[in-house]
Amino acid sequence: MNDALTMVELIEKKKRGAELADDQISWLCEHFVSGGIGDHQMAAWLMAVCWRGLSDAETLALTRAMLATGATLDWSGVGRAVVDKHSTGGVGDNTSLVLVPLMAAAGFAFVKMAGRALGRTGGTLDKLESIPGFQVELSTDRIREQVERIGCAIVGQSPQLVPADGKMYALRDVTGTVDSLPLIASSIMSKKLAAGAPVMVLDVKFGSGAFMQTVEEGRALARAMVAIGAGAGRRVRAVLSPMAQPLGCAVGNALEVREAIETLHGDGPSDLWDLTVELGTQLIVMTDAETERASARARLEELRLSGAAARAFAALIEAQGGDARVVDEPDRLPAASHVLELKMSGSAKRWVRGVSARKVAEAALELGGSPAVGIVLRARTGEAASPGDVLAEIHADDTASAARAEARLRDAYRLSEEPTPHPTGDYEVITRWTR
Ligand code: URA
Repeated sequence: MNDALTMVELIEKKKRGAELADDQISWLCEHFVSGGIGDHQMAAWLMAVCWRGLSDAETLALTRAMLATGATLDWSGVGRAVVDKHSTGGVGDNTSLVLVPLMAAAGFAFVKMAGRALGRTGGTLDKLESIPGFQVELSTDRIREQVERIGCAIVGQSPQLVPADGKMYALRDVTGTVDSLPLIASSIMSKKLAAGAPVMVLDVKFGSGAFMQTVEEGRALARAMVAIGAGAGRRVRAVLSPMAQPLGCAVGNALEVREAIETLHGDGPSDLWDLTVELGTQLIVMTDAETERASARARLEELRLSGAAARAFAALIEAQGGDARVVDEPDRLPAASHVLELKMSGSAKRWVRGVSARKVAEAALELGGSPAVGIVLRARTGEAASPGDVLAEIHADDTASAARAEARLRDAYRLSEEPTPHPTGDYEVITRWTR
């Protein structure tokens, strides 16, 4: 039978909700990447998956099959325990900028393959490129040398990893087949497995600024990814973290780097530090089951207080060609020419009931793509504000974009006449898969 007819059978099978065998899934991936199966047939199969889903075994088989279309990196021999982290993407999410140097300071090896901005969510690479001179494209040999020397690197995803995902994601994007849980889980996990770390933590965000809108959706994705990790022989846990309001106060590339530096120095918003410590703690206890959570946390706190974590960030910036002086002199980062304050209107004291991450992201998009622009929230959920108080700052390149952002940002704030509780810093952690 020729490839096109075999593919029709697999499409029909999935359309009826039947389970595909591992070798059928491998065949499908290989032939899609080699061009033997065209986009039209793959799109039909993907749509059938959207409606019928994939079993756990099929999801693992698809992840493995995608992984097999490219290289898998091997960091053995770097002389440190290798860890990794992935975030499903949120607004103002600069956790990697704090976590990667922190874990390097703790003696781990952390090769973070990061991405660019996608839709409303910012990209770690774009954030780092706001540091003058910072290079994100490094050869594998150079990454290895750097990690052996300083314990970390943050680089762009190598094109040799998971070509099937690049091709499949592009097709999903134009055929309405992105929002399928097994397709998202296998797409993310194939890239994480290819990056080669035996231990990884997944930061699965839920809320208005995230892919997954509800905690239930986030939990389902987290479980699917943890199951794939376990099936592939890696130690993987997922932390569910809220994305109703942005993480931290800053949204914008240079502003988020500045906030990460403040956090590494012991200041910065507590929610950013709390999440970073939770992710780091999970990595430590997964690497060494003997370590208690409390001592892992204490170790990370100590690395911040001693200045070791900030020094590790300076070493990372220097190794990748950037101006490491920004760590002690953040004013060297690009700054916007205009700062407009969004002030509380009305005549009575109010409490912030919520700041919509989605709307803040939309306001930030009005400011354009220069590294200096963005938003800094001065009042967040649970805080009180009186008339005339500054709710947020808008950092813009011109007054017209600042005015457009201001209108959207005002709409992001929900105010209440009653005191509103601060969000808690408790996270649900998915340590193993259960249905
Ligand atoms: N991110 C990915 O890498 N893949 C998806 O399918 C969705 C989000």
